[in-house]
Formats: sequence, structure tokens, C-alpha cells
Amino acid sequence: MTDQLHVTVWNEYRHERGTGKPAEVYPQGLHVPIANHLREQGMDVRTATLDEPEHGLTDDVLAQTDVLTWWGHAAHAEVSDAIVEKVHQRIVLGGMGLVVLHSGHFSKIFRRLMGTSCDLKWRDDGEKERIWVVEPGHPIAAGLPDHFEVPMAEMYGERFDIPQPDELIFISWFQGGEVFRSGCTFRRGKGRIFYFRPGHETFPIYYQPEVLRVITNGVRWVAPDADTPPLRYGRHEALEG
Ligand code: ZN
Repeated sequence: MTDQLHVTVWNEYRHERGTGKPAEVYPQGLHVPIANHLREQGMDVRTATLDEPEHGLTDDVLAQTDVLTWWGHAAHAEVSDAIVEKVHQRIVLGGMGLVVLHSGHFSKIFRRLMGTSCDLKWRDDGEKERIWVVEPGHPIAAGLPDHFEVPMAEMYGERFDIPQPDELIFISWFQGGEVFRSGCTFRRGKGRIFYFRPGHETFPIYYQPEVLRVITNGVRWVAPDADTPPLRYGRHEALEG
């Protein structure tokens, strides 16, 4: 793609406005280091948060967004169904890409796209996570070693109740013994979706170079393909007489 990518980094942005650890780790919100990094890669990036009008996802913003990234946790239920519907249409019919991060697994938009509960096991004890690249030739794994570690993470364990991913790119191992499908791709209609597990509001995971590299690669991979010809539907003339 030659045109600059237009990315909207969406964050619930509630934990970080409190007084605890999330505010210490991400004083401006965890969307800010993600957005800054994507800007440094040459993308045109805006941010949007839950408490803005229309959650920052107006019709204009959605129309101008090639790729949306999504982080939510405590307030999934407060995301308006009308906005979720618009985001869904923009992905499935419009081809907007979606990168879902960490606890975004329980967001309305991800559950709607998956059609399953998206439930999982979890334990927030600050354990080491070792992330294995199991599809090293995939563009989302570009530039990564064969594994990398997050020193302190919240554990997510299988089973992760998602449909079989189109591609499984990362598998995580946790200190406590569990494993998890940490990097999964899906296609829904015209849209591409990438789920990436790492990231929790109390750990500085969104400053870690490997994690930011994966997010960058993921954004590029889910971006709509500008060369796709328009699709034709409806009555079709026979090709043979
Ligand atoms: Zn978490």
C-alpha cells in the first residue's frame, strides 16, 4: 500500500484515570505509547476513548479509519450497541482492519465477530510469559526472534473459546504452566482481524519493543488491500450462449 495508513487507537481509558498502578504505568493512558509508536512507523494515527461522544468513533472517524485497534476491560458493557453495529459493518462490509488487544477478548465487537463466548482462564499474579512464534514466515511475525518474554504478565490460559483461527502465529507459555493461543488471525467478510494477547493495565507491556513490533505488523497485516477490485452481486449474465 502506497498511501499512508490511517489508524484509530481505541482505549476504554478508565483504569489509568484512577489513582492506582495503571495511572503510574500509563499516566496518559495505554493508548498513548501504542499511538506514538505507530506514528513513528509513519502511520497517520488518532486516538479515541470510551467517554468521548460516540466513544470517539463518529461516522466520519470510522469512514477515515483503515485499521482500528481495541483495548477494553472493565466497561465493555458501556460500549453502545449502535456503535458496535457501525464498527461491525465497517469491518465486514467496508474492509476496515481490527486489532484486538489483551482483555479486548471480551469486547462486544470481538465477541460479535467471533460468535462465541471468547471466555478463558486468567490469573493476575505477575507471572513470566514466554511467547513462541509458531508461524515465523507470517508478516505479523516479521523481525521477531523465535521467542520473546514478557517479564510480568497476567496469565490467560486455554481453553480460549474462539473459533478455529485462520492462522495461529503465537503461543504463550506462563510460569504457572498454562498455554494460550496469543496471536490469532480471522477473516470476517471483507475485514481482517488480529487478536494479540499481551498487555495488562498494571504492567509496562505496551512499552516493550517486541510487543510494539507485533502491534505494528498486525496493523499493517489487517489493513484493507487497496488493489481489491469492487465485488459484483446480483443477476449475472451467462458467460456461454
Ligand atoms: Zn488484563
